[in-house]
Amino acid sequence: MHARLILGSANPHKAQEMSEILAEVLGTGVEIALRPAEIPDVVEDGHTLEENARIKAVAISKATGSTVIADDTGLFVDALNGAPGVHSARYAGEAADAAANVAKLLAALDGAESRRAKFATVVVLRRPDGFELTATGEVLGVITCSPRGEAGFGYDPIFVPDELSGGTFAELSASQKHAVSHRGRALRALAQSIADHGGLPALFA
Ligand code: IMP
Repeated sequence: MHARLILGSANPHKAQEMSEILAEVLGTGVEIALRPAEIPDVVEDGHTLEENARIKAVAISKATGSTVIADDTGLFVDALNGAPGVHSARYAGEAADAAANVAKLLAALDGAESRRAKFATVVVLRRPDGFELTATGEVLGVITCSPRGEAGFGYDPIFVPDELSGGTFAELSASQKHAVSHRGRALRALAQSIADHGGLPALFA
């Protein structure tokens, strides 16, 4: 059996993480392809992570005729009433890069009593015929006062997960991050759901 999945992401860091974790959880026999470059960016105008993940999955699955795995992630900060949340990518403006988003978040938390936050991911697997599985994953932690570490991407340098020994996601190896991360958990939950539906051969038959 040969299954082909397209990742609904144009972010090379995220695509790399998703294919690493999927390879871990689904094993061999799955070809994981990046979103083709000729497919234009999908406008993510949903109000929730799930809506945005589905918008990407539907658009890319229609455009490619293939099964797509798309995720959407947000960083929800307690002291900011859940901001930046679903707007995490554009927190510091439409063209903001990770450094600008991180700088804005650290400024917003200056003097805050709580620095608690969570990352959440919703992942949608969508077949061209409309069959769909969804799964979610979360990780709780705190926002540091300044960035630390070189690995990862996005807000990784300022997020310390509760479950590990004080390092930011950007100070951890990829496998340490995947073991506790929002995306790792969502993809493992998706793999379980795939297994509950008879496994990939049944889904791709
Ligand atoms: P999206 O899911 O690609 O839209 O990501 C939303 C925002 O969250 C972007 O600014 C990403 O850089 C950031 N982000 C997504 N996943 C992670 C992660 O695993 N670590 C740190 N930042 C992330």
